[in-house]
Amino acid sequence: MSYLYGGKILRVNLSRREARFVPTDRYASKYIGGRGTNARILYESVDVDTDPLGLENVVCFGTGPLSGTTFPGCSRTDVMCKSPVTNLIGNASVGGDWSAELKYAGWDHVVLEGKAEHPVYVDIHNDAVQIRDARALWGLTTYEAHEAIRNELGPDVKIIGIGPAGERMVTFATIHSNIGNSASRTGVGAVMGSKNVKAIAVRGTQGVGIADPKAFLEASLRAHNTIRASKYYEEFHTIGLTLYEKACILSGLEGGGDGHANVPPSFDERFDYYSMFEKHCYKRTGCTGCPVHCMEAYHVGGLGSTVMSCELYPQLSYEIRNADPYFHYWLVMTCQKMGIDSVSTATIFQWLMELWELGIIDSTITGGINLEWGNKDGVKELFLRIIGSDGIGAVVAKGMKETADYIDARVPLDRRYDKSSYWWAMQVNNNPMYGVNPRMHGMALAYAVGRRSDCIQDLDMVEVDIANFPVYPEMSEDEKKRLTDEEKALAERVSGKIGAGDLDGYQGKAEMTHDQGITTGLPDMMGTCKWHTKWLFMDIEPENYAEALSAGTGREVGVQELITASLRLRNVERVLECKMGRRRENDTIPEKEFGRPVARGFWKGKIGTDRKEFERMKDEYYALRGWDAKTGIPTVETLLQYGLDDMVEDLPGRGGFGERRPVSEGDDAKLPDLDGKKERDGGSRETKTATR
Ligand code: SF4
Repeated sequence: MSYLYGGKILRVNLSRREARFVPTDRYASKYIGGRGTNARILYESVDVDTDPLGLENVVCFGTGPLSGTTFPGCSRTDVMCKSPVTNLIGNASVGGDWSAELKYAGWDHVVLEGKAEHPVYVDIHNDAVQIRDARALWGLTTYEAHEAIRNELGPDVKIIGIGPAGERMVTFATIHSNIGNSASRTGVGAVMGSKNVKAIAVRGTQGVGIADPKAFLEASLRAHNTIRASKYYEEFHTIGLTLYEKACILSGLEGGGDGHANVPPSFDERFDYYSMFEKHCYKRTGCTGCPVHCMEAYHVGGLGSTVMSCELYPQLSYEIRNADPYFHYWLVMTCQKMGIDSVSTATIFQWLMELWELGIIDSTITGGINLEWGNKDGVKELFLRIIGSDGIGAVVAKGMKETADYIDARVPLDRRYDKSSYWWAMQVNNNPMYGVNPRMHGMALAYAVGRRSDCIQDLDMVEVDIANFPVYPEMSEDEKKRLTDEEKALAERVSGKIGAGDLDGYQGKAEMTHDQGITTGLPDMMGTCKWHTKWLFMDIEPENYAEALSAGTGREVGVQELITASLRLRNVERVLECKMGRRRENDTIPEKEFGRPVARGFWKGKIGTDRKEFERMKDEYYALRGWDAKTGIPTVETLLQYGLDDMVEDLPGRGGFGERRPVSEGDDAKLPDLDGKKERDGGSRETKTATR
């Protein structure tokens, strides 16, 4: 195998207790690595009939060519499987030190197949692979299990694994690394749990081959310096996103939907993440080889230790109107210990609390739990029941659609305003959305067309910047104006459209989302971090990757080659998604979000997503992607353009796809009333529907 790669993909068949290897170069030249190779392996492994929690599903863990090198952020692992949440592609990324170690052990990917007879963990020590008994670890938290494995194998072992939520196949369970970071979205932890795998432990003593070490080191140094010179580096490297997330609240981006529409603005002042940071953060932390270290390590006496960053701040606090910072802290810490996604948890709680406020659910539905906004006892009780899959918790653990079906079967239609309770669920293809508002136009498009049905990682964050600057804490008025102007100019440059930075317009959003999709694909394939790219306002460009790959492999790698690989990757994913049932009509946001303005904050009443314009943005986006405007399926020409000739026969009209199954759990007949006419016409219960 060439430089920068371990050269082998490890396939572990748990049912047969067998390990075998596949050469990486079967995939690397076309798909590079990480998410690229994972997508192709998944495409070859699963089908429309594959039960996400059944024997036939696989879980792919992918490093990339830059994993374990001196390139910044060299230790992100892409995780992919069929999702138990969406029935589409499940995908998430976990940071820490595992990915680099896997490369040092000589492996580029690990693929778990089948199901172990009893709980096990996989122990990889260079070429030696063992399936070890994990019955004694089953039931332990992620913290405890990692500690127990370290005691067994030694302090240097690097581990990723699940907690009790994954063992019980809670559909929004996560996979955690040593540092508290996790692959959180789309239920990847549940799939690992369905295979009876508690963890994968790795020890590696091999290096990474580099063709031209001096040139590679120079390329790495340039990339480190580029990150350090980026606009947000100093802030994210010192106080993380404590102020940034506050800006999202004040601008009205956070708290999607209308859940908080009637809460007075003074309520927002109660969320002060910076004070908590000042009091309890004892060090910065993050992934191997990262100059940013975007995470904060906290310790609170009497509660314990955890890691905070990014969306962990507003999700289980502001989103559910929980203004107690220590209860918020306990929830985040418990999510990490139990291995459960805090974003999904918060969005599901927000939905249930809104249903409670509307009078749609009460304690007869929740098993006696009071779900009034901000009720700590109620949140704690339901949270523990979800993790324990106990009573109503076992229903909620299956996800939003299953929960809506449960509610609808027990609550008369008129009490539900003649709708399914799913109507109020902030989800895309059943995946609970981030809290960030889909009433922003670019955000709506990115949520709808993103690879994993919620994907704010396909959003060009320039839009978020422009929305946040007017209210950014501790920023002068001059600076707010200067930065806003800069971002608007950037939006026009990226999209080639005048006015692309206008939040109330639709022009240029498709181009920006398309461009961001390409950008996001690159670090995902390289094994590095998308935070270092323009996705989170840092300046790593395709040129940086091309330079490093050229020096590392000894083969001239051009920017266009990488961009083509990223476009190819998204088409592999899209064909697979379409094969699993996804079509244009699934590329959407909750129907209730259309035609309503942002409900609070600085942008209150000023922006909203119009349905017709949204569909027009999709037309533009599909044209850029080379996807059929009517169906959203990649065209034959597109597949041929990206060298995916063997996938053509999978397309409908070419004998492929066969029977179409509905996306996500449940059947189409049970889908909620999605036209919203009655609601928009005034609804039937004036006080509570006024804003809904
Ligand atoms: S920016 Fe954060 S998530 Fe990305 S590599 Fe660095 S520490 Fe990890």
